[in-house]
Amino acid sequence: MVNPKSMRLRKEKGLKPPISDVAESFISVTDIKHYFYCPRIVYFERVLHAKPVLGSQQEDSQEKHEEYVRKELRRRDAIYYSSDFVGATKMLFVPLSSARLELQGVLDLLIKTRQGEYVPVDYKMMESDGGRVWMDHKYQLVAYALLIEGQFGGCVKRGFINYIPEKLVIKVDIVPSMKVHVKRVLGHIKRIIREEKLPPIRVAKHKCTGGCGYKHICQRL
Ligand code: SF4
Repeated sequence: MVNPKSMRLRKEKGLKPPISDVAESFISVTDIKHYFYCPRIVYFERVLHAKPVLGSQQEDSQEKHEEYVRKELRRRDAIYYSSDFVGATKMLFVPLSSARLELQGVLDLLIKTRQGEYVPVDYKMMESDGGRVWMDHKYQLVAYALLIEGQFGGCVKRGFINYIPEKLVIKVDIVPSMKVHVKRVLGHIKRIIREEKLPPIRVAKHKCTGGCGYKHICQRL
């Protein structure tokens, strides 16, 4: 059932009506990341199908992400060559999906150690949160962990985020409560899409920098 308010908003913005197909019904790990940044992004992308207004640097980093990752992998002290992972199997740009969770994503690097442990590595073409992992990046990594467990089995206990401009690799311990939290958020995201209900903002409007690219729509609501 389409919410009349979101239909009106689509019309006002000159946006296309919603498309319902199988791929659309899956949540992506990027949706998870967006939800943690601000739940409204999910509404703008998945309900209104609006296009973000991104800076040239942001657009560039999306377009060239794979290239940046491959370049980073050539760096001698990259995580790829860590002594922890000698003899490990390393898989690049791994498509992952779970019909049970209705979740999908493509992971930059998946390491399978000689002991059989799976370790996800995600690359970001941006700086860290003052030497720490941004919250949205952390939970995106947890979403990858859930997908890996569903696809390959085992229990993912750690992963890494590589902030390319800083040459900084940060380890993230992935504990069961984080996985439960991501599953709960998955439910919230599905509800936003199903009910087409505008979620509350995470940061007060006057404080929001609009780094999401949807400020032009959001500030008018
Ligand atoms: S402009 Fe700010 S409040 Fe609105 S969706 Fe973007 S991040 Fe959220």
